[in-house]
Amino acid sequence: MNIGIVGLGLIGGSLGLDLKALNEHTITGVSRQSSTCQRAIQRGAVDDAHPDLMAVTSADIIFICTPIASIIPTLQKLVPHLPPTTIVTDVGSVKASVVHSAESVWANFVGGHPMAGTAESGIEAALTGLFVDRPYVITPTQSTPSTSVSVLETLVRSLKSNLYICAPEDHDRAVAWISHLPVMVSSSLITSCLDEPNQDVFQLAQALASSGFRDTSRVGGGNPELGVMMARYNKCEVVRSLKTYQAELSKLTQLIETENWPALEAVLQQTQQTRPQFL
Ligand code: NAP
Repeated sequence: MNIGIVGLGLIGGSLGLDLKALNEHTITGVSRQSSTCQRAIQRGAVDDAHPDLMAVTSADIIFICTPIASIIPTLQKLVPHLPPTTIVTDVGSVKASVVHSAESVWANFVGGHPMAGTAESGIEAALTGLFVDRPYVITPTQSTPSTSVSVLETLVRSLKSNLYICAPEDHDRAVAWISHLPVMVSSSLITSCLDEPNQDVFQLAQALASSGFRDTSRVGGGNPELGVMMARYNKCEVVRSLKTYQAELSKLTQLIETENWPALEAVLQQTQQTRPQFL
């Protein structure tokens, strides 16, 4: 197949590396900077790459791998130049808002989200095998052409990813629980600690912080742009999950205030038993 990749960063570059390694496809990349394009060619992520978006208009399938805010503007620039057979997909971490806007612009659009990444970004961060054994969620709607879903499914399976197919809204609600809510919770843990008014105690806490704090604060100490992106593009589901979390925190607070130790133990037993179901 002729495959186009727009946005040669961590995700676009990694997709290129693995799709090209199959020796079944011709891969053309687009990225704004010529230096990114040259590096993607050198790294073997693409056969050819250009800063001009028109370079991918003859592809059979185009992966838009730009930051979320640029997905729809990129699609809008592409569509006047595409035949109706061209499948366009994206890799954005939030799906409902992207998919519904995209399919109003291009009927042959299939939403996707490869759930793999690192803390790094850009073409140098691209990794071979990034998607192996990781979830790749495809989010068709009732109007998505089933043949196009099948084409993307075949490519995803060739990456050795674990394929999931669900509605965009279900994807966004699920990732709110396991990805977006943890970022907000972890951030508020850190800001709560910053509220300690006694400087001696504050410094002691900093000195004593160890593995428990490292585990629970990790995602709150990550890239702020990503956190804002989650809240901005998945606002309803992030707010819903935060409200449920607030209610659960209030219940725990009340159990402790009323010294209801058996009930507190029952909650902690339940969470101890059910945590493995998520991991
Ligand atoms: P990234 O490493 O920053 O890569 C994005 C690349 O896109 C940049 O290197 C940039 O290179 C290029 N770019 C930016 N705007 C562009 C535009 N308008 N047209 C063409 N190229 C453009 O970011 P990423 O982590 O790969 O994320 C890309 C997408 O993947 C996002 O939508 C994100 O939601 C999704 N995603 C990310 C992760 C993750 O863990 N990072 C996981 C799954 C999905 P130039 O400067 O050369 O243009």
